[in-house]
Amino acid sequence: MAGLHEKLQAIYEEVGQRNAGEQEFHQAVYEVLTSLGPVVAKHPEYADGAIIRRLCEPERQIIFRVPWHDDSGAAQINRGFRVEFNSALGPFKGGLRFHPSVYLGIVKFLGFEQIFKNSLTGLPIGGGKGGSDFDPKGRSDAEIMRFCQSFMTELYRHIGEYTDVPAGDIGVGMREIGYLFGQYKRITNRYESGVLTGKGLTWGGSQVRTEATGYGTVFFVDEILRSSGQSFEGKQVVVSGSGNVAIYAIEKVHALGGTVVACSDSGGYVRDEKGIDLDLLKEVKELRRGRIEDYAEARGGAAEVVTGRSVWEVPCDIALPCATQNEVSGTDATMLINSGCQIVAEGANMPCTPEAVKFFEEAGVRFAPGKAANAGGVATSALEMQQNASRDSWNFDDTEARLAEIMRRIHDRCLATADEYGQPGNYVAGANIAGFIRVADAMLALGLV
Ligand code: GLU
Repeated sequence: MAGLHEKLQAIYEEVGQRNAGEQEFHQAVYEVLTSLGPVVAKHPEYADGAIIRRLCEPERQIIFRVPWHDDSGAAQINRGFRVEFNSALGPFKGGLRFHPSVYLGIVKFLGFEQIFKNSLTGLPIGGGKGGSDFDPKGRSDAEIMRFCQSFMTELYRHIGEYTDVPAGDIGVGMREIGYLFGQYKRITNRYESGVLTGKGLTWGGSQVRTEATGYGTVFFVDEILRSSGQSFEGKQVVVSGSGNVAIYAIEKVHALGGTVVACSDSGGYVRDEKGIDLDLLKEVKELRRGRIEDYAEARGGAAEVVTGRSVWEVPCDIALPCATQNEVSGTDATMLINSGCQIVAEGANMPCTPEAVKFFEEAGVRFAPGKAANAGGVATSALEMQQNASRDSWNFDDTEARLAEIMRRIHDRCLATADEYGQPGNYVAGANIAGFIRVADAMLALGLV
């Protein structure tokens, strides 16, 4: 990867020192800074006004104890986080992740990415992220509820529709948002719909929010294809993961005429040459909360399960990593390039390692970074906030049309910005620079706060 502009190098070193051991956060900062060289060369006011240094320092970081009783009556203790990163464009906005790997460095990488992603949507939302090292795997519904209630018993004092608006991420879906919202409502005695997004349709949620991240990623790829006169028709696609993002990415690929031939979970991957049977996958993953093996078993001989190997060995035209950070290594990237893959779009946050991104760039693979390609989720959260603020609810088709339009605009803005800064076709540069400039201008206007 190219070295950093001198002023940016100093900022990066300071980030490393002030945030020791937070490797994912360093990685996310470095990735953005590599794109900003031409920006500070053209606009020294961003570097001189300490805008970038301020962007790297969260406005507020909250860490708290989350005590709860498991079903056997034993006391359990987890750690909760909310990093309120930047509110220049609107209330802090971003999901909550419940996963045993969560620590401050993960929450900060996600929160940092969220600032630029949210800026790119063009909507009035700042950036934040939160979560816990709680592992929902194998926990009963009652345990999940007690955990969520305890988590909210601390979090409620820090959030609000004009302050900070959490949503879901890995391990947090509509069930968890329900328990969190119920506890918020009980403590505050307010039906404040706009305090959380990803709500159920009967209690303030928006149509298309569940589908939005996966659909949005596929809409973004559709724009990439369109820009070279192609479409999804006849394309073979590999999707990693089998959670909410993956499921709705698969659904939209199939609707647009492509075929998803493999998907995965942490235990392995399943290959289904006729195309993943989405109804079955939804039943296994959403209703039974089962494993990918259960899918393959139910499909009989039609699907093959492979454990202990990478899903990226399956040949494809388009790869959509929709699982988690750093899941695509340099070796995986090489396999994809050698099998003829032409487009990679990140449905997850930072799933490609810096080495993988470098290989894609060198090989001419069109690469769409998560902060652009997966922005449809949070964009639809902002649409949910709009509906809540006006006590309105829109129908599915209108909401989906708005999502498609937002993704088209993000795509075009990335390309136009990449052109303007002398890097035509580079979606990474376009996303980082366009996302940065909108926040940076707002920060300059709001003064040193
Ligand atoms: N967690 C999602 C993301 O990474 C959605 C956040 C939201 O809807 O606020 O963008």
